[in-house]
This record gives sequence, C-alpha cells and structure tokens, in this order.
Amino acid sequence: MLCAISPGYMTSGLQEQYIKRLRRVAPFAYIKTLTRTAGGRPVVAIQLGCGCTKVLVTGTHHANESITGTLLWELLLAYCRAICNGGTFGGKSARALYRNSMLYCVPLVNPDGADLVAGEIPEASPEYVQAAAIAVGFPQIPFPDGWKANLRGVDLNLNYPASWDLAKQIKAGLGFDRAAPRDFPGNKPLDQRETAALAAYTACIRPDILLAYHTQGRVIYPGGQDIDPPGAEALAEKFSEASGYAVEEVPPESSNAGFKDWFLRRFHRPGFTIEAGLGENPLPLSQLPQLLRENEPLLAAALAN
Ligand SMILES: [Zn+2]
Repeated sequence: MLCAISPGYMTSGLQEQYIKRLRRVAPFAYIKTLTRTAGGRPVVAIQLGCGCTKVLVTGTHHANESITGTLLWELLLAYCRAICNGGTFGGKSARALYRNSMLYCVPLVNPDGADLVAGEIPEASPEYVQAAAIAVGFPQIPFPDGWKANLRGVDLNLNYPASWDLAKQIKAGLGFDRAAPRDFPGNKPLDQRETAALAAYTACIRPDILLAYHTQGRVIYPGGQDIDPPGAEALAEKFSEASGYAVEEVPPESSNAGFKDWFLRRFHRPGFTIEAGLGENPLPLSQLPQLLRENEPLLAAALAN
C-alpha cells in the first residue's frame, strides 16, 4: 500500500517524493535530470508515451508559482494511473493518448526559488542570507512571497534569447537593472543553468506543442509579436473549450525573453502560456482541485492532437 503524498507547494523535496511514487506507479516513465542549479537541486524532466505528437509542458519558471509544479505532478500521476488501469484522462482513453503522443514534462524549472518561497531554506543558511540581501534593495516586493527569480536574482522567464535586449531595456527602465526578486533578465541570455538546460533539452526534442504553465488569470496566451504558427488558433480554441480559460493576445511589452517567446521564434510551432487559477500569487493550495479539473482536459486535448 502506498502512502498518500500531501500535495503542498512544489519544492525539490516534494518532487523527490513524486519521483519515487512515479517510479512505482509507472516504471515505463523515463525520468531525466537536465541539470543541477547553483544550489545543487536537480531540474528534472519526465517523458511518457510512444506516439508522434510531441508535447512539452513546463511549470514553475517563477518561484512563487510553484503550485503549477504540484498541478503538473498530480496530472502526471493521474495520467499514469489511467494508463495502467485502462481508464480515461481528461475524458479520453489514456492508453490511446499514450499511443498517440510523447509527453515531456518539466514541472519544477526553478527549484531553488521554489524552495525559498515555500520556507524550505533555513534563515541562517548562506542561500537565504544572499536572497534576503537582494530583497532589501526592493522593499516594495514582499519577501519571500513576491519572489519569482532563482536564488541568483535572475527572472528565468526573462532569460531566453528572444528580444532579450529589449526586455533588458524595458526592465532596467523600471528599476530592475541588477539581481532582484523578479524582472531582472540576467547579464546575458541563457546565463543561468536552468534556462540553458531547458533550451538545450527543447532544441533536442523539437516539440510540436508547448504548454508553459504560470499563475494566474485563467487565461491562455498564444502567439505574440505577430508570430502565428500554423494550427495555433484552432488549438487555442480547443484548450479554451477544455479548460474554460479565455484566450487573449499578449501585450507586446510582455512578449520578450520568455521561454514561450523563444520557443515560438525558434520553432514557429504552437506555444502557449497557460495562466492557471485566479487570485494573488502564491495561489492558495485550496485551488488545486479546481486547477486539476480545468487542466486535465486541456492537457488531454494537447496529447490527442
Ligand atoms: Zn509566471
């Protein structure tokens, strides 16, 4: 009998529990460490499926959005259980989805930052002291709840080579010209281990569809910067119908240097930011059941494509 995992905010420790569980539930899942962070925590990818449609799903680029990591791990386990018992996932046959697709999932892109926000890093430790010293320069941002960056003070979702110079200029104009709890794009694109590893992994996979999970807003953002990959509009409609989330255009000032922005420019294939849930980050864990109800059909729709 397996003990239940208590689904808290995703941390590197909690992810270890989910990995152990996945190995028992689904020994056919392939688990790969993409890199280790500056803090030594692994960034892990899970691969599931034997079909042609390659779907990459990422969570927790932003530290205080780590509920997306929990959401993705819970979805992975639900999918695996349905595969094993011949059940459905998001209303579709899980085994048919498994045969149709290859799912690549990186639930916790920013484990260092997530551990900080979750209170997993002791206040006396050098990591915490370093983060607190960065936070002092930005008193308007609650610490640690407003922390989105990694522990080097780089906002990982502004660290990709897609109009990075423009993002740098815009953010510097807003005062984020140095290591910060959020909005600092780094000193050059992909200068962080997390982003360098994820970009290399993505270039290797060449996904057909990207779902980049963030919180919050109950909104799906396709495209951006006049990039309109073939099939993106129809997929956005499908995802919207499956989840109940609205489809909106990305404001131009917000479509630079993000992972999805880079993916769209690099591959010209459909990529979506999913802003899950509604409220103030970090979203309360009480939203998790609703997040699961909304996003299981969305993910199933991507895998069925
Ligand atoms: Zn975010």
